[in-house]
Amino acid sequence: MGTRGNEAADRGEWMDQQIRDEQREREQARKRNRMRRRKQIRRRRICFLVLLALIAGGVMGLLNRDRPSPEAPAVAEINGIPVIQDYIAEGTPGRPGTKKKVKFIVIHETGNTGSNANAASHAAYLKTEAETEAKSWHYTVDDHEIYHHIPDNEVAFHAGDQLKEDGGNLNGIGIEMCVNPENDYDQTLKNTAALTAHLMKAYKLSIEDVKKHQDFSGKNCPENLIESGRWDEFIELVKASQ
Ligand SMILES: [Zn+2]
Repeated sequence: MGTRGNEAADRGEWMDQQIRDEQREREQARKRNRMRRRKQIRRRRICFLVLLALIAGGVMGLLNRDRPSPEAPAVAEINGIPVIQDYIAEGTPGRPGTKKKVKFIVIHETGNTGSNANAASHAAYLKTEAETEAKSWHYTVDDHEIYHHIPDNEVAFHAGDQLKEDGGNLNGIGIEMCVNPENDYDQTLKNTAALTAHLMKAYKLSIEDVKKHQDFSGKNCPENLIESGRWDEFIELVKASQ
């Protein structure tokens, strides 16, 4: 009897132990589940935030894509070459005042071989011309001066491509280099390279954004630079001026 009683007690204890073990396992399983769920929630939250950041970035990018560039502060000289601000009147056919994003620098030559057709005389000429004609550009450079005719972030008409979406007029800063007989052309190239490097920095442009007029309308401009095969040399000058 006594032995049987002991056996029964042992069995009872063994079952209690079983129940306790099962309870502990269930509790551990619950704890694991809770941890897993918490991790899942955390992971989902991170995914959501990343997605949100990507969407916000995309929207901002789209909004900024064609927003006009703020104009870089005016400078009085670049590498010792005086920069003279002599704007043509706003609201004229040559300077309608349309704001734009700066994406390119468009290099030209005036093609004007008349005597004294330097930067100063082109500034005076443009002011008259702009009154009646949609013909304009941003800078004229000779061997000793740079004239600034129109703010960099306003449309001018120099690339021969009207207001084409990816065109030179709508996205470019037009620079004319003088070719008059009194002018030192090599010095003009150096001055233009210095101005180009300055503008690249101001508008965060790369060397690939420096274009010829020819790239936009096919015109043989800048003529001397193209004909003499010196375009690559000019690009090297720009890089060296950076
Ligand atoms: Zn041109």
